[in-house]
This record gives sequence, C-alpha cells and structure tokens, in this order.
Amino acid sequence: MPIAVVRAETYYTPPPPAPADAWAEVPAAERVWRWYEIRMGRRVTPPDETVDDVYFARINQNRWISDCSCGSAAVVSPADPRYACTECGWGWASLVFPADVAAVEASLAGLKPVLRNWWHPDDPANPDRPVDPVPDPGPLSEEA
Ligand SMILES: [Zn+2]
Repeated sequence: MPIAVVRAETYYTPPPPAPADAWAEVPAAERVWRWYEIRMGRRVTPPDETVDDVYFARINQNRWISDCSCGSAAVVSPADPRYACTECGWGWASLVFPADVAAVEASLAGLKPVLRNWWHPDDPANPDRPVDPVPDPGPLSEEA
C-alpha cells in the first residue's frame, strides 16, 4: 500500500490509551487544538471568530500544512479547509487547496515521503513561481 500524504485527521490522533477513533467527531481543522492541549498539558481554546486571512495549503515532506503569518505552522486537511494557529491564536483563516487534491497527491506518490513537497502555483511564497515579467525601462539616459 502506498504511503498516503498526511492530513490533519491522520496526524492529530488521540494518544494511547484513548481509542484510536476517540476524536472521530472532531472536525479535522480542530484536531490540532486537542493535540496541542494534550502536548502542552493545559487548556487551550480555539478562537471563535473567522478572519479575512487566506493561506495557501502546501505539502511539506508529505504533510498538508499551512503556515501562519507568525511563523508557526500546522498540519491541515482539504476535508476542512480552515486554520487557526495554536501558537498565536489567530484564526479561523480560510485555506486554498488545489482544485484536484487527489491529482497533486498522486503526482508525488513516486517520491520518498521526505521528498514530497508541493506549492500552490498561485502562492506568492512558492519558490518555483514564475517571476513576473519586468517591463523594459527603455533607455536610461539619452546620449547627447
Ligand atoms: Zn500564528
């Protein structure tokens, strides 16, 4: 069986001895908050409000992730395309996934998981994004 690209619902799972399906009813985008709370050993509360921010989801070493403007990131899911940052508390931002998630995941299937990286072509942070053409400034000076 091929190794699937990791999503929030497969990454943020309840720790033993809880049953593996204990978080089955938790929306994918909210699972990081459960996971983070257990790791931190204290109560954390996701934000109530939706914000206008829109982030591009990307695949980083076989995980769908979103970066926050604070520098943190989390594993996210195309099944629940929103993100609230557990580090700075900003959220809920909307996420942009590719129109055909399955095709993007399939395009990486031949690579080792650690080499599976993908950026949305419209993401300004995409290092492979074509450079916008620079207009020809014309002659910079007139020779007299
Ligand atoms: Zn943040």
